[in-house]
Amino acid sequence: MAPSDPVNVALTIPKPGIFELVERPLPIIEAGYALVKTEIAPICLEGSRIWAEHDFEFHDDPYHLGHEGVGTVVAVKPGSNFRVGDRVIVFQGDHCGHCHACTSGLSPTYCDANDPDVMGVDKAAMRGIELRNGSPSGGFAMERYRIAPEANLARIPETLDFRHAASANCSFGVGFSNQELMDVKAGDTVLIGGVGFIALGHVISALYRNARVIALARNPYRIDLMKRMGVEYVIDPEDDDWAEQVRALTYNGQGVDVAVDGSGVAFYQQRLMAAVRKYGQINFSGHTPGSSLHISPLQHVLDPAHRISGQHDVRVRDRERLIRALMSPEVQRMVDIMVTHEYPMSKAGEAFAKQVSKECGKIYLLTQQ
Ligand SMILES: [Zn+2]
Ligand SMILES: [Zn+2]
Repeated sequence: MAPSDPVNVALTIPKPGIFELVERPLPIIEAGYALVKTEIAPICLEGSRIWAEHDFEFHDDPYHLGHEGVGTVVAVKPGSNFRVGDRVIVFQGDHCGHCHACTSGLSPTYCDANDPDVMGVDKAAMRGIELRNGSPSGGFAMERYRIAPEANLARIPETLDFRHAASANCSFGVGFSNQELMDVKAGDTVLIGGVGFIALGHVISALYRNARVIALARNPYRIDLMKRMGVEYVIDPEDDDWAEQVRALTYNGQGVDVAVDGSGVAFYQQRLMAAVRKYGQINFSGHTPGSSLHISPLQHVLDPAHRISGQHDVRVRDRERLIRALMSPEVQRMVDIMVTHEYPMSKAGEAFAKQVSKECGKIYLLTQQ
C-alpha cells in the first residue's frame, strides 16, 4: 500500500541559521524495512550544534537531518512482523543482525552497520539505510516519510500517546538505558550534573526508580523544570562548599552511589567524579565537541575503585522496560515537564533558536505540519 501524498518533504539547513523544506521522491523499501509516516522528530544536536555552528556528526549533513522519532507504519513488504497502521518508536540507525551489538541486545549505535570505521562514512548509519534500500529519500528523521529497519522499531501500546513515546530516544530513553546498564536502584543517591535534555531524562529515570536525586546545576530555567519534576536538592557547582553540601545528603557522608554527566565538559565531570563514594559509578551521557578530560588511572579509578560507563542510545534489551516505564502516569507527568516546546517542522527555525537559547527542555518538531 502506498501513501497518498505524492512526495516526501525533508528539512535541510543549507547555511547556519537558515532552514528550507525540500521535496523529494517518496522512499522505496526493501524487505526487512518499514516505511513510516513520521509524527514527531525530537531535536537532538540539530539545535545547538548544527543550527548555530553548522557542525555535523559523521551521520548527518546540511541536507540530511534527524535520527529520533515516532510515527505510523504506512508500508511493509510481505512477511513483515509489522502491519500498516502500527504506531512505532524508531530507534536510530540500521541493523546488520550479526555483530556483537546486534547479537547481544545492545544499542544499535554500536551495530557495525552504523560504524563509519567498518562501513565507510557514506554507507554507515542513516545514509546506509537509504543506500541499502536504493531510496531517493527517507533515511532520516526530519522528513515526512522515513525508512526504518524493522529490528529497530518498537510498537507503541494503544494507551501510550506519541508525545510520551517520543521521549524514548535521546532524552528519557538514554537516561533509562544508562541507568539499567548501571543498575540504579531504589535508595541510591544519584548526582546529576550539566543539565540538558539528556540529563533531564536521567532525572526522570532516577525518580522513577525511587533514587534520591541531587542536581549540580546553574541554569535557572532547567532548575525550575527539575523542581517541578520532584528534585528536592539542587546545588550550585560554583559554591565553595558544593562538595560538602553533596556529601551531607549521602549515607554516612560517604559520597553518592552514582554520578551522571550530561554536559560533556570537564568543569562538571571533575566535580562529579570527586563526589562518588568508594566503588561507586560515574556515567558520561553528554558530549561536547573538542572537550577532553584528564584521567589518572591510579587517582581516578584504582584508588576510589570507581566504575566508568557511558553509551549512546538505548539497548535493545531495555526497550520493553523503557516502554513499560513510559506507561507510568508519573513518568508521563515528568515527560510533559521535560518537553517544553513543540513546533511545526515548517517553523523549524524558531525551534532551533529556542534550543540555542537554553531556555528549554526537550523540543519536538511536528514533522507533518
Ligand atoms: Zn549489527
Ligand atoms: Zn539524539
